[in-house]
Amino acid sequence: MKYVSTRGQSPAISFEDVLLSGPAPDGGLYMPETWPRLDFANLDGLSYTDLTAKILSLFAGAHEWNEAIARHARAAYEKFDDPRVAPLRQVDGRWLLELFHGPTLAFKDFALQLLAPLMNEALARRGQRALVVAATSGDTGAAAVAAIEDLPNVDLVVLHPKGRISDVQRRQMTTSKAANVRNVAIEGTFDDAQSLVKQLFADHAFAREHRLAAINSINWVRIVAQAAYYVSTCLALKAFRAPLTFAVPTGNFGDVFAGYVTKKIGAPVKRLIVATNANDILARAIRTGVYARGNVHATISPAMDIQVASNFERLLFAAHGRDAKTTRQLMEAFAATGTLTIQPAALGMIHDTFTTMSVDENTTANEIRLVHEAYKLLIDPHTAVAFHAGRTLEAREPVVVLATAHPAKFPDAVEKATGVKPELPERLRWILTAPERYETLPNEIGPLKAFIGRR
Ligand SMILES: *Cc1c(COP(=O)(O)O)cnc(C)c1O
Repeated sequence: MKYVSTRGQSPAISFEDVLLSGPAPDGGLYMPETWPRLDFANLDGLSYTDLTAKILSLFAGAHEWNEAIARHARAAYEKFDDPRVAPLRQVDGRWLLELFHGPTLAFKDFALQLLAPLMNEALARRGQRALVVAATSGDTGAAAVAAIEDLPNVDLVVLHPKGRISDVQRRQMTTSKAANVRNVAIEGTFDDAQSLVKQLFADHAFAREHRLAAINSINWVRIVAQAAYYVSTCLALKAFRAPLTFAVPTGNFGDVFAGYVTKKIGAPVKRLIVATNANDILARAIRTGVYARGNVHATISPAMDIQVASNFERLLFAAHGRDAKTTRQLMEAFAATGTLTIQPAALGMIHDTFTTMSVDENTTANEIRLVHEAYKLLIDPHTAVAFHAGRTLEAREPVVVLATAHPAKFPDAVEKATGVKPELPERLRWILTAPERYETLPNEIGPLKAFIGRR
C-alpha cells in the first residue's frame, strides 16, 4: 500500500515510512492511495487482537510486517484490564463502548500501545533512533509516555499546556522514571503547544538533525488502530442487519475519522455524530460549510479544547474527491485568513455520513448528573458530551457512544456534577504521591529548540 499527501506535492511513501512520519513535507497528511476492503465474512470469532492485526495488515499491504503487527498487537492489548479490550455496556436503548481499559485509562492507549513498539521495530530494522515530539491536551501525552517509556530506539518529549490539564493527566506523564522521557509545560494553550511542534517539524534541518517523529493523531497508523473497535462493535451488535450510528467526543478529529475509515472499508456504519464541547469549530464547519478558527475555551473536557482539528484535512481531501490541489488551496486559505469554505458537493458528501452537535459546559455537567441518577453510572466529561449529542440527535435509534476516558481521570468535574468522587483503579494510585519531573518553558520556539538540543 502506498500513501499520498493530501496536498499532492510530496512523493508517495510506503507503510513503513508512514509508520515513522509526521506531516508530509508539503504540509499535508498521508492517506492510503485507495481504500482496501475488509472481508467481513471471515471475522466472526476473531479475538480483538487478531481483528486489529488483520485490519492493520490490510493497510500495511506488506507481508514483511504481518508477523510484527500480530506480535505487537498481542502484547499491546494484553495490558488492558478487561479481556474483551473494548467492552460494550448497554445503557437503556444505547450502548457505551468502553475505551478506557488500557494502561492510562483513555482510548489513546489503543493506538499508542501498538504504534510505539511498531515504530521502535522499524527504527531497529534501519539501525536508527528517533525523537518523538508530541503536544498533548492531556491524554495523548500520558498514553505516549506509557507506550514509549523504556523502548530502546525511541526518545520522547511531551509538551502540555501548563495548568490546562487535570492533575491526574499531568501526573501520569511527569511521574515516569524512564530516562528516555522528558516533559515540558508550555505557558500557553494546547493549540500553542501543537503549533510549536509543527514549527519544529517545519524546520527541516532541525527535524533531520534530531530525527523527529510524530505520534499525534496525524499518524496514519493511529487512525487505523482505532478503526478496530468500530469494527468489533459492528460485529458484536450484528450491524449488518441494522447499521450503527456512533457518537464520538471529538477534538482533533482522529477518532471519528477512524469511524469514517471503518465505513470506507465496508463496515455497516450509518452515521457518525461529531460531538464537540464549547470549542465548536467542527460543529460549525459541518453545519455551515465554513471552517473558521475561533478562540479556545477551557472546558471540563480538556482533551477537546482545540480550535484547529488537524485530521479534518483528511476528510476535506476525501470529500473533495481526493483533489489534492483543492485541498491545498483550502488549507492555504485557512492558514492565511483563519477561514476556509467547503465546496457544496463536498459538504453534501460530508452530510451523507456526519451529523454534529456542540454541547456547552452546563449541559455536559448536567448529563453526567443525569446518567448517574438514571443508571448509577459515572461517566467522564468527554463521554458526557457524546452521550448528550447521541441522545438528542438520535432519540429513536440505537446509538453507540464512545466512552473515551475513565471518569477517574477527571475526578473534580465528575464529583462536582454527581457528589461522588470516582476512584482511580488500584494499579494507578501510586502516581498521586510520586515525585514529578518537568520543565516549564515560554510559548516560544527558541527555548524549546534549546531544551531539545540539551540531550
Ligand atoms: C483525545 C480525546 C478525545 C478527542 O479525540 P480526537 O481523536 O482528538 O478527536 C476525546 N476524548 C478523550 C478522553 C480524549 O483523550
